[in-house]
Order: sequence, then structure tokens, then C-alpha cells
Amino acid sequence: MSSAKQSLTVIGLGPMGQAMAAAFLDRGYAVTLWNRTASRADALVARGAVLAPSVEEALAANEVALLSLTDCAAMYEVLEPAVTALAGRVLVNLSSATPEQARSAARWMAERGAVQLTGGITVPPSGIGQSASATFYSGPREAFDKHRPVLEVVTGRTDYQGEDPGLAALFYQIGMVMFWTSMLSYWQAIALAHANGLAAADILQHATDTANSLPGFFAFYAERIDAGKHLGDVDRLAMGMASVEHVLHTNADSGVDTVLPAAVAELFRRGMDAGHATDSFSSLVELMKKAEA
Ligand code: NDP
Repeated sequence: MSSAKQSLTVIGLGPMGQAMAAAFLDRGYAVTLWNRTASRADALVARGAVLAPSVEEALAANEVALLSLTDCAAMYEVLEPAVTALAGRVLVNLSSATPEQARSAARWMAERGAVQLTGGITVPPSGIGQSASATFYSGPREAFDKHRPVLEVVTGRTDYQGEDPGLAALFYQIGMVMFWTSMLSYWQAIALAHANGLAAADILQHATDTANSLPGFFAFYAERIDAGKHLGDVDRLAMGMASVEHVLHTNADSGVDTVLPAAVAELFRRGMDAGHATDSFSSLVELMKKAEA
């Protein structure tokens, strides 16, 4: 066995950073930590991790540092006082960011002699360290290839998207627009159920079956949309318009908040006004490709 233990630094110990540090400790890595609120490191230090007294020392300890911070603003706040320690480091930035923010962070790091690999993790803390979990990466290929074994500890699947540091963030945000909107639709369904005397548990199976039906729709429409076809052969926007109005009125009649169903109805209405009544509701994609005039 090599005498040099594999090692890395984790900066940011929210639920995600804590899960990452724990996954590396599980695999025998020497782990150096830094977090604004030092007490969040206690359980990891009890397991053998080292809490660095400063960000500078945390960065100096290892070539690779994982950043798991709330956003880019937090990243600059954390790294700015420690810029002298950035040269020669590889920062795997697993914090949520827009593609533009990820690109600008990569430039900021390059100007200070560091390399950023952007990461977009697709799982919650319970998925960290699991072989089936996946993360999108982008940035310099060489750094990705060299540090892949480290990245595979975070999630078993490492999905490299290309050199552009914004790409991983883009893929991440594509997933998140679906995640947040879908979960809000679930909260809406539960609010509607509650208003009618049903518990979340009473609709769990129905909600699950509904969600499970979606991939079939994704595949069916993806092909047609890429071909520019919005045939009204299996569904028509006018039918959808009537349906989403029923959804809106059912929610209104039940006395629950209607912001979400009203926004959906508004999009359908715009499609109708644009002349798509006899096209598929997939024609809404064409409207959504442009910012609202
Ligand atoms: P949290 O926001 O709970 O914590 C992230 C860390 O950011 C904490 O260590 C916190 O420090 C630190 N932080 C925030 N603001 C500052 C600041 N101004 N200065 C210094 N440190 C700061 O995030 P999570 O751990 O839940 O997630 C980390 C990242 O991973 C986020 O970008 C999130 O979007 C992303 N993500 C999260 C998932 C999840 O399910 N939680 C799933 C996939 C991605 P302190 O402890 O001192 O508050």
C-alpha cells in the first residue's frame, strides 16, 4: 500500500458537503475541512477529518478542493480572503450556479492560477457516495480525467459535458427547472387534496402513477419537437385549454392558492391566441423559446 493516503479538501459543510466529506472518510481519504460555522465539522472531525483554521490553510493542504456552498456569492466571500492559496489548485465547484456564473467563476479562478471543474449534482445528500448517483461535469478535460477517481467518490456516475465550464451548470439547471416545477405541482395537488379532506398519503399512489407516466410523454414529444412537428393528431391545444381551466377552477372552488394553475392556464391561453388551437400542446414550446414580448 502506498504510504501517501489519498487526500482532499471540502469547503462548505451544509447537508451536501457533510455527506461528501463522510463519503471520502468512508473510503479512507484524509479529509481537510473548512466551514464558516465551524461546529458543522464536529461529527466529521470525530471521525478523523481535520478542520483547517482558515480557508487558506484548507486550500494549501491539498491539490483538490470540493466547494459545496449555497451559491456563487458565498464562493467569492469564502475564497477572496484566500486568493494567494489558489494557485495550482483544482476546485471542483459543486455549488448551484447559472451557466454564466460558472463561466465567470472559472475565469476568476484561472486568473488566480486555479482550475475550476464545474459540477452539477443530481441527487440529494442521501445519494452522495452512491454508485448509481450522477453528477454533470464540465471544464478542462485533463483535470476531469486526472481527478475522476475523486469525482467518482462523490457520485459513481460522472457525466462529462465538455470544456465549457457553463455546460455542467446548464445541465444542472435543466434538471432543476423540472424538479422545482414538478415538486410545486405535487404541493399543489396535496393542497387540493387537503382542502377536500384527503391526506398526502391518500393521493401518494395516484401522484406516483401520474409522475411515472411522464417519461412516455417525454420520449413521444421529444422526437416530434426536434422535427418541428406539433401535430394535433393525439392532442389539441384547445382540448388542453379546457382541461387546464378545469384544473384552475377546481383549485379556486376548493379555496386553495391558484398562482401555479393560473400560470399554466396563462401559457395555454397565449398558445391559443397565437393560433395553435388545433396543434398539439407541444406547440407551447415554440412560445416558450422566446422571452415574453
Ligand atoms: P446549504 O445552503 O445548506 O449549505 C452550503 C454551505 O454554504 C454551508 O456550509 C454554509 O455555511 C455555506 N455558506 C452559505 N453562505 C455563505 C457565506 N456567505 N459565506 C460562507 N459560507 C456560506 O447547501 P447544501 O449543503 O444543501 O447544498 C450545497 C450546494 O449543493 C448548493 O449550491 C445546492 O444548491 C446544491 N445541491 C443541493 C442539493 C440538496 O439536496 N441539498 C442537491 C443538489 C445540489 P454555514 O454552515 O456557515 O451556514
